[in-house]
Amino acid sequence: MDRNNIESIVQQVLAELQGGAQSTAGSRGEIPEKSRVAMLTKKEHFDIQEYPIPPVGDDDILVKVEGCGVCGTDAHEFRRDPFDLIPVVLGHEGTGEIVKMGKNVTKDSAGKPLKIGDKVVTCMIFKDNPDITMFDLNKQNVGGADVYGLLPDDDVHLNGWFSDYILVRGGSTIFNVSDLDLDSRILIEPCAVLIHAVERAKTTNILRFNSRVAVQGCGPIGLICIAILKTMGIQNIVAVDGEEKRLAFAKEMGAGATVNFKNYQGIEALAGGVKDAFGGHLADFAFQCTGSPVAHANIYKFIRNGGGLCELGFFINGGDATINPHFDICSKEITTVGSWVYTLRDYATTFDFLKSAKDIGLPMSKLITHRFPLEQINEALATNLKMEGLKIAIVNQ
Ligand SMILES: [Zn+2]
Repeated sequence: MDRNNIESIVQQVLAELQGGAQSTAGSRGEIPEKSRVAMLTKKEHFDIQEYPIPPVGDDDILVKVEGCGVCGTDAHEFRRDPFDLIPVVLGHEGTGEIVKMGKNVTKDSAGKPLKIGDKVVTCMIFKDNPDITMFDLNKQNVGGADVYGLLPDDDVHLNGWFSDYILVRGGSTIFNVSDLDLDSRILIEPCAVLIHAVERAKTTNILRFNSRVAVQGCGPIGLICIAILKTMGIQNIVAVDGEEKRLAFAKEMGAGATVNFKNYQGIEALAGGVKDAFGGHLADFAFQCTGSPVAHANIYKFIRNGGGLCELGFFINGGDATINPHFDICSKEITTVGSWVYTLRDYATTFDFLKSAKDIGLPMSKLITHRFPLEQINEALATNLKMEGLKIAIVNQ
């Protein structure tokens, strides 16, 4: 037993003697002394390491992790360390159960009561910006803020959701989502990205109930986009992708028709295919969900004069796109919006979306195509990099 370990146990005992933290055996047994974490110790390699569970401060919450989605950002960091974070515990799309919390913790970031046993998710950490107004609709996105799962390693170590336990510190946003099932909770973060995109689309005043909407790209982002449009009551959705399996899934999510771009030679023919799928009309609005510059250049051809476009596919820099400003934007008077991350308001809206999606029978759980235990995290990331399946998740037993 090393010195740090003894110190942390002594501190924990003292904190408990002072009534500083409430804890419970919880539904899964006693809180152990140590927690496993998946530490990315070099490129393309996680080590499963164990660290003492530190004392829970008056504003802190200890969460037993139940699961966490693998994000494109995790895969990017795993492969190349572009954020220069190694060693790091990744995983930001996580959820779990509160097993211990400091005496000052009574509510979540939306004002909902919090108690031991509640299921929670985290969002951003605003330690340095306590003035952020979460329910301000006009607030810009929260990109650039700190987030668990992308924090540099420190003495606490329990900083990411690819672990058995995570210590959520005061100043973090946390939400009580006990009324959502595990799969829904794992999907919250990617769904919030699309809730934000649709909110951005609505600012154009072009997206209406009866709009013809094209969604290009049927990976998780495009499929979730279709599901959100469907829960909003938009009926006329055409999905565009190059894989029949994904297009079939798009139909289950609510697309009325699909277009496989591999069946068309050239952009004019493809635009004709989209027009046919809408019964002889171009799209009123299009969502570009591919992250491909070529797909971005093409999408203008699917949109009618005076229509709108939301571009959200570029979470990493995919390079430049070539468009014709005369034909594609000016003469067609296309209104374009970009979308990036989400606001905290969008995050809370997402919980309601996930309930609505379930109520109308959309197969959201099918988005999670692979589930791995924590000890197989290297395989999970390799599966993600091979672009197999849709959403890959780490699920703790
Ligand atoms: Zn993510």
